[in-house]
Amino acid sequence: MSTTTQVQSTLTATDRCDRCGAQAYVRVALPTGGTLLFCGHHFRDHESPLREAGAVIFDETSKLDRKPEPADDTEE
Ligand SMILES: [Zn+2]
Repeated sequence: MSTTTQVQSTLTATDRCDRCGAQAYVRVALPTGGTLLFCGHHFRDHESPLREAGAVIFDETSKLDRKPEPADDTEE
């Protein structure tokens, strides 16, 4: 029997976007140790600078019923 204490990137309905208060679907772990929560919309606004800063991004937008945009994994 194993006790799994690993931290999942599971966001719940109580997690809110830091910018607008909408339900958060993306959790961003900053290199400085902080954590930001974003809705899909605001994550898009901040994605590039966050990635450049080396943030670890837990994207759970797949939980959304509606697809934000077609994934770009189709293009080679
Ligand atoms: Zn937002």
